[in-house]
Amino acid sequence: MIQLPTVKFTEEQEQFRLEVRHFLHEELKKGTFETKCDSWLSGADPGFSKLIGQKGWIGMTWPKKYGGQERSAIDRYILTEEFLAAGAPVAAHWFADRQTGPLLLRYGTEEQKEYFLPKIIQGDCYFGIGLSEPNSGSDLASLSTKAEKVDGGWIVNGQKIWTSNAHVCHYMVTLVRTSPFDSSKKHAGLSQLIIDLHADGVTIVPIKFLTGEHHYNEVFFDNVFVPDSMLVGQLGNGWAQGLAELAFERSGPERILSTFPLLDELIQELKGQNNIEGLKEATKILSRLWGLRNLSIGVAQLLETGDGKDVQIPAALVKALGTKFEQSIPEITRLLVQTYPKLDATRKLDRFMAQSILHAPGFTIRGGTTEVLYGVVAKGVVAQ
Ligand SMILES: Cc1cc2nc3c(=O)[nH]c(=O)nc-3n(C[C@H](O)[C@H](O)[C@H](O)COP(=O)(O)OP(=O)(O)OC[C@H]3O[C@@H](n4cnc5c(N)ncnc54)[C@H](O)[C@@H]3O)c2cc1C
Repeated sequence: MIQLPTVKFTEEQEQFRLEVRHFLHEELKKGTFETKCDSWLSGADPGFSKLIGQKGWIGMTWPKKYGGQERSAIDRYILTEEFLAAGAPVAAHWFADRQTGPLLLRYGTEEQKEYFLPKIIQGDCYFGIGLSEPNSGSDLASLSTKAEKVDGGWIVNGQKIWTSNAHVCHYMVTLVRTSPFDSSKKHAGLSQLIIDLHADGVTIVPIKFLTGEHHYNEVFFDNVFVPDSMLVGQLGNGWAQGLAELAFERSGPERILSTFPLLDELIQELKGQNNIEGLKEATKILSRLWGLRNLSIGVAQLLETGDGKDVQIPAALVKALGTKFEQSIPEITRLLVQTYPKLDATRKLDRFMAQSILHAPGFTIRGGTTEVLYGVVAKGVVAQ
């Protein structure tokens, strides 16, 4: 069974947290952004991403030769927690920072690293995740978007769906079939291509959220040419490469803190009412949060220093338990205080409540459903 390390923040790290918190507080005061729940996925604001890039806060763990700062995964964890706590609009650069960069550092060519990483770091280049298709979600290996070899590259035809922020992104790491489907080897013949979302033959069609917001999309490929230089890693190794990305995708604090602005506001409200019984309930929520946070930080540390140890099981646990936790916050809030949820309410608690209720159903679906994650954990435990 894998042992997760206990992480203790250094004085410099605590200082860094205060620096980030102060910056966000000042930007909030200036009106640069408005706190929102679930802003890491649905709050895409390229202007804000650019600002973060100028601070050196995108790709901060990456090598200096590409513009990074070689800071630790724990520094990045602290930064991310503060963005989530402030409900800052970081969605535009989120996937590029969280997983495209690490993917390219591990599997990309030197040319890809030199071209993409500095642009991502500056907050100028955003990536979408092109996995799900209308007939392939949990059973992703059955996907049918195909890439056929031609001189100098590939011709891609097919469709992706639920692609977060494709309308804001410049590129998408897209899992495609590069050799015919063989039901006895479902995971073979898949490859990852970087597709330029402004290329000829790419059509992006919005799918509106329950709130009416435009967050995710259908992305159609009609004879899209993708040069050879845009193949990531090895041909046919897309499944294994994608699995490595999933640990980054599933284990971060964003799987716990999507509704943190609501929790924070709830506690302020209970304090204001001197509601001791309510505050006791809030303490129970905070202890759950503390446990989940330790699990998530432990995975972040292992991803950096674990010498390639497989963290799929703890990463799946963070997502399965963390998303249930963040979903429970509006439900607990409803039982502790009077609230009239409305997206345009003037009272913050009512606004955060409406955002949480309307976004929460997706928490346990995006990035792998809870049932599928339980399957990952169960299979992993049996194998040990
Ligand atoms: C807000 C949001 C953002 C998203 N962003 C992206 C994105 O950027 N890129 C992208 O590629 N995708 C994205 N997705 C899609 C997401 O990854 C899929 O919705 C998810 O993987 C589930 O696939 P599905 O919708 O096809 O459901 P299905 O796979 O059809 O599942 C339907 C139900 O069956 C259950 N089920 C399926 N298989 C099993 C099994 N083996 N055992 C037990 N139960 C099972 C599931 O748990 C679920 O309850 C996003 C989804 C949401 C909600």
